[in-house]
This record gives sequence, C-alpha cells and structure tokens, in this order.
Amino acid sequence: MNSFANQTSRRPASLCVGGGHHDTTQGLVRPIQTSTAYPYIDEGPQPYPRYFNLPNQDAVASRIAALEHAETGLVFSSGMAAISTTMMSLVSAGDHILLQRGLYGGSHSFFVNELSRWGVEYDFVAPDIAEFEAKRKENTVLAYVETPTNPCLEILDLEALGSFARDVELTTIIDNTFASPINQNPADFGIDLVLHSGTKYLGGHSDLCCGVVVGRANLIGNVLEKAKHYGGSLNPMACHLLERSIMTLDVRVQRQNANALAIARFLESHNSVSRVLYPGLESHPGHALATKQMSGFGGMMSFELSETLPLRKFLTSLKHIRPAMSLGGVESTITVPVFTSHAAMTEEARLESGVTPNLLRFSVGIEDEGDLIADLTQALGHAAADA
Ligand code: PLP
Repeated sequence: MNSFANQTSRRPASLCVGGGHHDTTQGLVRPIQTSTAYPYIDEGPQPYPRYFNLPNQDAVASRIAALEHAETGLVFSSGMAAISTTMMSLVSAGDHILLQRGLYGGSHSFFVNELSRWGVEYDFVAPDIAEFEAKRKENTVLAYVETPTNPCLEILDLEALGSFARDVELTTIIDNTFASPINQNPADFGIDLVLHSGTKYLGGHSDLCCGVVVGRANLIGNVLEKAKHYGGSLNPMACHLLERSIMTLDVRVQRQNANALAIARFLESHNSVSRVLYPGLESHPGHALATKQMSGFGGMMSFELSETLPLRKFLTSLKHIRPAMSLGGVESTITVPVFTSHAAMTEEARLESGVTPNLLRFSVGIEDEGDLIADLTQALGHAAADA
C-alpha cells in the first residue's frame, strides 16, 4: 500500500499513462510478476497475492488512486468483491447505514440479502441530502451512494453529502463506476472511499473482471485487514491488463462523452422516444448539479420508447449496437434493466427506483457517432413500422 496524493497536479490523460508507481528501469512496460512466494529472511514484509501487495497489484492500484485524487487503493477480483469487502470492513452488528435509492441491482441485493443477515440495519433514501438527514439515526455509521445512478442517471450533490457527513461524522462511500475517474473525482468533495467496478470503464474492453476501492490510507488500511480474510485480490495477469487498459481511459471516455451527448440529443428529438435520461441534457433534473461536479457527463444513458413501439423489434433490428449485458466497453451495448442488472429486485423496489419495464440502458461506445445514430434511426424505423 502506498501513498500517491501528491500526483494530483497532473491532468487525467497524463495520469492514465504514467500515474502511480513508475519504475522504468525494467522497460516501459512493467513485467508481469506471477510469483506467489518471496524469500523472507532479512527481506522485510513480503509480497503475497492475498495480501494485495504484489508489484502488479500495487502498481495499478496506485495509478487508479492517483486518477481519483486519493491516497491509496486496493484492486479486487470483481466490483462486487470490492464493494462487499469494503462494506464488511466498515460495519458491525447493530450499526445502521444509509443507502441511496437507485443503486446498482447487485449492490442493492448484497445490502438487502447479506448485510441484514449480519445484523446491520439500513434505510434507502432519495438522492437528496435532506432525506439523509431525516433518516440518520444514533447508530448510523455510513452513507453509501452512486451518482449518476444505474440506470436512471439521478444525480446526488456530492459537496452537500461531504459536508453533511463531516458534520455528523459519517463515513461516505461512493460507487463511481458510471462516471469513471475521468468525469468525476468524489474525493475532491470529501467523500471518503471511492469504489469502481473495473469491469466497466477502467477495463473498457469487455474482457476483464475486477474492482477497486481507493481513499485515505487509514480507511484503506482497515479494508485491507478484512480483505486479507475475504481473499478477493486480483491476479497479476489481470492487473497488467487493467493497467494497460487505463493507458487509454481518458481517450476512450472523452470519445464516449462526446458520442453520448450527440446521441442523447438525437433521441430526445425523435418522436418514437418518450423519455431520455442523460445528465448532459438541459432537460435532465440533475443537469446543473452534474455540470458543477462532473467534468464530462459520461457514456451512459437510459431511454424509453413510445408505448406503442415493440421493444423486442427495436432490439433485434439494431445492427451495430449490441443487446449485451455490462457497460463501459469500447463497443456500444444496450440492455433492458428489468431483465438484466435489476432482475433480482422486486417489482416494487424497481419502480421505486424508476426502473420501468420498457426502460433501455445504453452504454455508448467509441464507434463513429454518425454510424451509431444511423443504427438507432433504422431500428426505431423498423419498430415504428410494427407498432
Ligand atoms: N457497480 C456498478 C455501477 C455496476 O454496474 C456493477 C456491475 O454491473 C457493479 C458495481 C459490480 O461489478 P462487477 O460485476 O465487476 O462485480
């Protein structure tokens, strides 16, 4: 575990290529060190995969910490490993936690089905600090949030959350997967721990499963102690792939931001589309807040087709945009959250989060903007013809 706080003066594109540890004595590309055993006599604390201190683990964690303006971090074998381990290191039986409404379905399911078994109470709150205040109890220890949320792209005021949490001494945790460190750095607003499903934008090529938590060294130290028990560290080969992917993170995300804004505007003006949720649109209720706390609006959006349009016809008519799960890859993918990311939730919980049966979640890739719009145009045309 190392500290990288002094690297924040460099811009994200530079940090993607050279942030964190950068020892060039062995070549520009860091060797993949697969050893699980290191000599110990007279050598000090030794690397071991499950101790999260292998050279490749340390290097990529340090780069992500630098990108997130955080002191240090840990890389895990999935986003859920990062989320569950972090949460288990911060709560005990009898604690109460505040969970923002509209979380990723897998996180929602973990909180509801797992944490409750360990005697942790929770309340879901709207993305509004007044609600966090209203629902806080004597035994509330932390607030867990996402902004923009998945899939409804609701925006929470991070500055207000940071200041509220400081006043009442709550630990704050954010899943920053949707924004990526290029578009939003929650540590700048005083958020304590920042999580990512690295499977998404950080990996970026739909071929890597990993997770990350970064934050202040003392908190990450606590997470590390528990992480050694739960054992969800990332192997060196995957660390190498993640580090390689991050080299192009800024370039990919900038392109995804530009493509998504153009597509959101196109969809909003199309008469076969009834609703578009994208924080970059002036019509989005969180637009002003997103403009304040994000440096780009991201590649994720959701939209609904007009009620008479057959969803299946639209999806099967797409030629380039793929109806595939996951998000954040270079290729554009589209999902129906009620059948995918939010399938495990009850219908009531889904509707409370705004996840309607005909909501489509669109992860915009790095393809040509005109080609993507042409694909949507023809698929909407085919669906309208069948309406
Ligand atoms: N957080 C968000 C916002 C996600 O979308 C996902 C997965 O879809 C996760 C966390 C979980 O990540 P993983 O699938 O890498 O465990």
